[in-house]
Amino acid sequence: MTHLTLQSITKRFNATYAVDHVDLSVPDGKLVCFLGPSGCGKTTLMRIIAGLETPTSGSVTFAGRDLTQVPANRRDFGMVFQSLALFPHMTVAENIAYPLRLRRVERSAQAKRVTELLEMIQLPHMAERKVTQLSGGQRQRVAIARAIASSPKLLLLDEPLSALDAKLREAMQVEIRLLQQRLGITTIMVTHDQREAMTMADEIVVMEKGRIAQVGKPLDIYRDPVNEFVADFIGLGNILPITFNDGTIGLPGGQSIVMNVPARVADAPDDIRLLIRPEDVCVRPASTKPGQNALHGKVTFVRDVGASIEATIECDGFTLTAATTPRETPDVRVGMPVLAELPAHACKLIAARTTPRTTH
Ligand code: ATP
Repeated sequence: MTHLTLQSITKRFNATYAVDHVDLSVPDGKLVCFLGPSGCGKTTLMRIIAGLETPTSGSVTFAGRDLTQVPANRRDFGMVFQSLALFPHMTVAENIAYPLRLRRVERSAQAKRVTELLEMIQLPHMAERKVTQLSGGQRQRVAIARAIASSPKLLLLDEPLSALDAKLREAMQVEIRLLQQRLGITTIMVTHDQREAMTMADEIVVMEKGRIAQVGKPLDIYRDPVNEFVADFIGLGNILPITFNDGTIGLPGGQSIVMNVPARVADAPDDIRLLIRPEDVCVRPASTKPGQNALHGKVTFVRDVGASIEATIECDGFTLTAATTPRETPDVRVGMPVLAELPAHACKLIAARTTPRTTH
């Protein structure tokens, strides 16, 4: 059964459509990420689900009940915001118990639940500490424990990790994901970090200017983005303009590419781009016998971070990024002439970027 349903949700602030006719179903027990650049409407959409914002039009239904006009405190959702909003004058245990106190849960049941949650977040020895005496990651865990204390059916996380340094952030991503899976709690998370969304989400909702650009499993979106905006936002991509002549795809320097070409390309090649992900570009020494779709180029930059290598290759008329490993390409260096091969199966044709409306 689908638990949360958004139907044609629109939110207008004067002339700005922060959210523009969004339809979405969030399945039970899944973690869904709202992902998109700053100002695309993620937070507004989340606030509408939370009940902190009323939509201009459209409806929010949860477990079959229309919640559109129900205030936030009556929705019984757990929430964690960027600021965490923990109470600094309270201990860890008091913070976690707070929603239970609000609901007038009996004291012994409160204590039992707090103990259980402290075990779950692996901070049983910190119950009596003030939250100001915790590290960023520990505070994060307390905020999550508080949000799930009263066993909400929906957990809303609005950029909950953005204040943490990169390493802790990555660790917390895994921790939250494992906890979410263990509890089976339906969760919606807002992030502008595509790596975070790929790590944590069952489904990603990519947003652009108030609208949903694509919804899908992380790898499906990565492999099959619907357009240039999504391809560019999810992962690194080489996105090239193409020409189309007599059944052949041409690259900006005039090189032709062998690949599967759907009929629609012939009608509007200007609206189509070629996408190839960096890890699909094969880099070989220029002296090797050229295979299919082999392009001559020269390495102009190498980002070698030990485990992986990213090479920028200047070809005739365009630049490619290739991702490789020290094992595959140990000797790649700036100035080196190379053959960059674009395997036909890895070349995708996608719709060029369009600008959706923001006002009506
Ligand atoms: P960020 O990642 O920067 O937080 P976001 O994707 O969460 O961005 P929103 O905060 O939802 O985006 O904002 C969407 C649009 O609505 C923006 O153009 C923003 O300026 C506008 N907006 C949001 N809240 C208000 C408000 N209270 N009054 C007027 N405009 C608003």
